[in-house]
Amino acid sequence: VIAEQNQVAAKAYVQSVYETVIKRNPYESEFHQAVKEILDSLIPVFAKHPKYAEHGILERLVEPERMVSFRVPWVDDQGKVQVNRGFRVQFNSAIGPYKGGLRFHPSVNASIIKFLGFEQILKNSLTGQPIGGGKGGSDFDPKGKSDNEIMRFTQSFMTELSKYIGPDTDVPAGDIGVGAREIGYMFGQYKKIRGGYEAGVLTGKGIIYGGSLARTEATGYGCVYFANEMLNFKGLSFKDSTVVVSGSGNVSIYAIEKAHQLGAKVVACSDSNGYIYDPNGIDLDTVKRLKEVERKRIKEYVTEHPEAVYTEGCNGIWTIPCDIALPCATQNEIDEESAKTLVANGVKAISEGANMPSTLEAIDVFLNNNVLFGPAKAANAGGVAVSALEMAQNGMRLSWTFDEVDAKLHSIMQNIYENSVKAAEEYGYSGNLVVGANIAGFIRVADAMIAQGV
Ligand code: GLU
Repeated sequence: VIAEQNQVAAKAYVQSVYETVIKRNPYESEFHQAVKEILDSLIPVFAKHPKYAEHGILERLVEPERMVSFRVPWVDDQGKVQVNRGFRVQFNSAIGPYKGGLRFHPSVNASIIKFLGFEQILKNSLTGQPIGGGKGGSDFDPKGKSDNEIMRFTQSFMTELSKYIGPDTDVPAGDIGVGAREIGYMFGQYKKIRGGYEAGVLTGKGIIYGGSLARTEATGYGCVYFANEMLNFKGLSFKDSTVVVSGSGNVSIYAIEKAHQLGAKVVACSDSNGYIYDPNGIDLDTVKRLKEVERKRIKEYVTEHPEAVYTEGCNGIWTIPCDIALPCATQNEIDEESAKTLVANGVKAISEGANMPSTLEAIDVFLNNNVLFGPAKAANAGGVAVSALEMAQNGMRLSWTFDEVDAKLHSIMQNIYENSVKAAEEYGYSGNLVVGANIAGFIRVADAMIAQGV
């Protein structure tokens, strides 16, 4: 009877906090979605440990410690003044300085930044590293901009952002639209403003000025390492399997590379315009050159590989039959319909390289059909985990070899998998990694919050 009463009380607690979130943040559907997924899965924790409700942990967790929004003025190549909006959310610093990427994409708004920042709290906790949760970005669209425009924009962005960050306060990195080039320009600007070499203020830096080896590869490799843990547990593997990877950015490219190394055939990838299907397996050198060097669209791939087919539009990629699907493009790219198609075509595992790529309905479809499902905050935590290793190397003024960092990444991904499995089991959701990852990430943050007082 007591257990049942606790369950009812826990549900009511979660519901009331969720309603406050909706009321306080109207029209922020992505933020609501991330909060709903996490809060629902924490009900068994509140039922078992009333202390979290007594300390108001959830009420505090859903409210960012700080959120700034700022004007980013810059001059384009025609001499015209442009204005974008910049954001930084400093969500939670219970276990370390705020840590999380910057996204430059026209869809960026307060809702997107808050959903990403909220996810980041638990993701960062799961890595076992001392990093809190933050996120930022701008509605600036890097597509079609010249190198000089990118530089002027990022410098202006950093002029404002520099007031809020620092190696022990808040450490941004890349995300969609922000890679090594943008981090380089931002680091240069930060250095001019501060007048000192604070290497640990940004991660994802170039190797010659304080970056970490294997950081570029980390998110994609980590996503495959995580999938491999799930598969091995069921006696399956990447070897000879057919894989579909959405996206063709940094996460996607290195997920494809690792999947190939493990003996899989990746037959498709995409960008925001459409997708390519190559029955012979994606030629990664071509993709790398097109996307990383020439900054072209993925459809150019077919001019060099006539056996491949390009299809306009993105959802279609999930109609390609595969054993393993790695969504590495963006949020909500797999809806209920696509999830059903993947299941009908016999998919065995999903490992999320992007943040929140599956809708709540799609996740239900996977879980109800016994598809191995690696949720984003576990499966893509390798990127931020190696960012924390970059901070550690910066602090020590030394650098580890590629193999050292890769080995650490591998064992971090294994630990995340094991801790998620254990937490799910302990709270009666055996095999459900969505619940397991959320609980394992939450407990570390919540206990630190209790220890540090209100
Ligand atoms: N943007 C990545 C993420 O979503 C990496 C963040 C970082 O390295 O700080 O986790």
